[in-house]
Amino acid sequence: MTLRRVVLLLFVLALALLPQLPVPEFWITQANYIGLYTLVAIGLVLLTGVAGLISFGQSAFVGLGAYTAAYLALKYGLSPWLTLAAGLAVTAVGALILGWVTLRMSGHYLPLATIAWCLSLYYLLGNLDALGKFDGLTGVPLVSIFGFPLENRRHFFYLLWALVIVAAVMTTHLLDSRMGRALRAVRNGTTMAEAMGVDTFRVKVMAFVLAALLASVSGWLFAYFQRTVNPSPFGLNMGIEYLFMAVVGGVGHVWGALAGAAVVKILEDQLQQWMPRLLGVTNNYETVLFGALLVVALRYGRDGLWAAVEARLPRLQRRRDWADAPPLPARERPARGEVVLDARAVRKQFGGLVAVNDVSLQVRAGEILGLIGPNGAGKSTTFNLLTGVLRLSSGEISLCGAPIRGLPSREIARRGVARTFQHVKMLPGMTVLENVALGAHLRGHAGPLGAMLRLDRAEERRLFREAELQLRRIGIADCMHDQAGNLAMGQQRLMEIARALCADPILLLLDEPAAGLRHKEKQALADVLRQLRSEGLSILLVEHDMDLVMDVTDRIVVMEFGTKLTEGTPAEVQADPAVRTAYLGT
Ligand code: ADP
Ligand code: MG
Repeated sequence: MTLRRVVLLLFVLALALLPQLPVPEFWITQANYIGLYTLVAIGLVLLTGVAGLISFGQSAFVGLGAYTAAYLALKYGLSPWLTLAAGLAVTAVGALILGWVTLRMSGHYLPLATIAWCLSLYYLLGNLDALGKFDGLTGVPLVSIFGFPLENRRHFFYLLWALVIVAAVMTTHLLDSRMGRALRAVRNGTTMAEAMGVDTFRVKVMAFVLAALLASVSGWLFAYFQRTVNPSPFGLNMGIEYLFMAVVGGVGHVWGALAGAAVVKILEDQLQQWMPRLLGVTNNYETVLFGALLVVALRYGRDGLWAAVEARLPRLQRRRDWADAPPLPARERPARGEVVLDARAVRKQFGGLVAVNDVSLQVRAGEILGLIGPNGAGKSTTFNLLTGVLRLSSGEISLCGAPIRGLPSREIARRGVARTFQHVKMLPGMTVLENVALGAHLRGHAGPLGAMLRLDRAEERRLFREAELQLRRIGIADCMHDQAGNLAMGQQRLMEIARALCADPILLLLDEPAAGLRHKEKQALADVLRQLRSEGLSILLVEHDMDLVMDVTDRIVVMEFGTKLTEGTPAEVQADPAVRTAYLGT
């Protein structure tokens, strides 16, 4: 058993004992509030910490859950379990609609939109007669479990904390899964994730809905805990406070949510108790000091409390349990010599600049085509056109005979095009193995629910087996458990190649793979490329290392200022005076 498991068990044990001890009622109440807040903050870990989407509006979803429960219980006498289901349904529908509209926004527009909906729900709740306006609804009945009413706070504690633990464990499971990796990948832009076949918008909506559902469960508990609801706990100030909790705790970690909720709640109460005594006045100075403390915390502890705890815990190494997993099914490959990629008069204009000027090229199955040219010639732009990252100004592209122009990047990936990036795009905090497994995204199917319930383990083993296989082939399997961000530049490039190979592509696009590699590593890379070619893979290679290019390619296309200068075998290209002029400027 790992140390972490032991700590978790001890924590659960301590929780189970707490209400049995003769601690003051006040503590139990505090602990219950901390549990309620933790649920919301766990949602923010998914949404903000992992996916990078900032929401100030989670309190609105808490309100939806709370009001749905209170209203249905009071008006129709529905049992708590039915009101929970109803609250989750209402929240899911609301979050889907809101997410659909707002998650296409980026930058500061999304946080502003979250503020807007939070405000509007607050005033809506406060103005509806049926919901008792700003007085709210009172007299919510008790929750009973198997006919046993949870009469006091110590009983309620168990229900609440059981749900918190379940939510935390399920979220941890989700983060360590195919969908979890996809979710992490959307954090810094969507280009890489889409190139791995991730539908980034859907993944964002998923995180958004899950975070809202967690908030809704918190609201449901809140209604039965307080036995009264009114709009004030669901306003914008609580929305901001939830975000504070998540950030103070360490927004990237599930247990950080608990740490943040506990610290913020306890600090708030202690200040409320002590400040008036110290100052002799009750002027809400505690709120002022609280705000100031938060600013200091954000300035000097940006990663939050849990990051500091993590740094002291022994690093977890994934248990290698996939050695005997069955291999993933392989794609059918086109016959050697068949045209795989056919780009005809491809053009890209950025305003007045023609970055790619009617370039045509063909790649056949089992061939390595080099694409060379001085810096700024348009090679990377051509890659982006071929992979659907950029839209063509004009021209046609087909893959194995089917037109792919205008398809989104992830669809082109699904059809068998994998790539690396000139500037490495990865998840620096994840292990090399996890980064590479992301490349096999489209070869897995497990959704978020399967991951939360750990029904995806068989598939995960197959994905990791594939990832390790590709790392071995590229020759960097030794560092599979290392954090990707700690690798040397050259190794990161190799990792990207392994990740691309995990997709079982028919066409591999490599953008300067040898940059930063040592001589020996370059030779090893050349061997790998030759090996891939012999397996029938097609490769389009952009590279500045001429020895490597001349050594491994079958044909070369030379570009200059966006246009195709010439095309031929390595020997022909080397002998071409125009190429010499382009490179040497003479
Ligand atoms: P290469 O990879 O061959 O070095 P690039 O394809 O990166 O060249 O760039 C080709 C030209 O297009 C350069 O002049 C570059 O400045 C320009 N360019 C590339 N991307 C953009 C963009 N998104 N917006 C405007 N200009 C761009
Ligand atoms: Mg480039």
